[in-house]
Amino acid sequence: MSYKNFPMVPKVIFGRGSFNQINEVLAPKRLSIHSPFIFLIDDVFKNNTWLLSRISLAYDDRIIFISAKEEPKTSQVDTLVEDIILKSKERPSGIIGIGGGTLLDLAKAVSIMITNEGEAKDYQGWDLVKNAAIYHVGIPTISGTGAEVSRTTVLTGPERKLGINSDFTPFDQVFLDSELTKDVPNDQWFYTGMDCYVHCIESLTGTYLNAFSETYGNMALDLCKEIFLEGNLSEVDAQEKLMMASWHGGMSIAYSQVGIAHAMSYGLSYLLGTKHGIGNCIVFDHLESYYPEGVKLFKKMKSKHNISLPQGLCADLSDREFDIMIDVAMSLEPLWENAIGKNWKKTITREKLKALYQKM
Ligand code: NAD
Ligand code: ZN
Repeated sequence: MSYKNFPMVPKVIFGRGSFNQINEVLAPKRLSIHSPFIFLIDDVFKNNTWLLSRISLAYDDRIIFISAKEEPKTSQVDTLVEDIILKSKERPSGIIGIGGGTLLDLAKAVSIMITNEGEAKDYQGWDLVKNAAIYHVGIPTISGTGAEVSRTTVLTGPERKLGINSDFTPFDQVFLDSELTKDVPNDQWFYTGMDCYVHCIESLTGTYLNAFSETYGNMALDLCKEIFLEGNLSEVDAQEKLMMASWHGGMSIAYSQVGIAHAMSYGLSYLLGTKHGIGNCIVFDHLESYYPEGVKLFKKMKSKHNISLPQGLCADLSDREFDIMIDVAMSLEPLWENAIGKNWKKTITREKLKALYQKM
């Protein structure tokens, strides 16, 4: 038997207002005056002086604002890398991603592709990256995905939606400043928060479960219940705790795997562009036969927060389109193996998946 030996984020700053320390944390990492820091920032913060005024740009440092309307694409990473290389006198000192999973994944991917030849799509998969990434920093502004702690950056490429999973992917430095999440809209808060909840359920009920994953998963699940069900927390406590739930949920799946909701939501995302958080919610809502307890609680949380999920997403799809989604979902073998077991192909059929998609 061979056990995974995976890297963790080596440096973390936690605390409300910790983002104020950004300049002092970056300063010693500057390689030269010609070697800029590149900030990739969600364009939702474009005119937000409360956040932006705390970043002191020096020499050739640059901010690039990026929309998180669509999930990151391999071609988008390639374009960014080309632009950064062309406009920088020397290889950048670091990439700093500020935003949700979309911006965090872009920052990770760009930092990898600056030191690796070819196109981002060539590295989608497991352990294909040859050279270490440049220094990269993750600063989440919404909590739930666990992208701040994970060993992957999920990208949609020409052929598939798949992560660049490598030892060089995790951030060198993370800031966990829950104050940055204070203006997240309620529905988005729920969708991204539920990503964390689904990570917990899929990890804790999976066949890959072990004590490492279980302990992190239980911590994250208890926090999710406190935040989304009990509701006696102050706003600040809820923001801080969701930030830690996201972290622990990410740690839990690092040493296990996600499951059916993720597999099927990748299909929705690939074909229809459905975003990760809401996509997981749409799928999970129909998975009571696989995750009875988890789905029951999910429905309670949904109703407590007055969330109504889109219906009829797949109503007008052709057979060919269903096939595309089913192909994407079924290609994610480890997710099914974790959810069902080694013999998952005996119970999970294309017809079953089609029937599930038809309900969505
Ligand atoms: P996101 O980054 O897509 O952002 C969702 C929305 O929230 C956007 O409209 C964004 O502008 C807005 N937003 C973010 N912070 C805000 C703030 N402070 N105030 C107001 N609005 C704010 O959301 P997400 O759910 O965090 O990320 C989804 C992405 O993460 C997907 O691309 C998914 O594939 C990826 N993901 C990655 C991992 C990983 O381990 N790498 C894990 C799960 C998901
Ligand atoms: Zn997820």
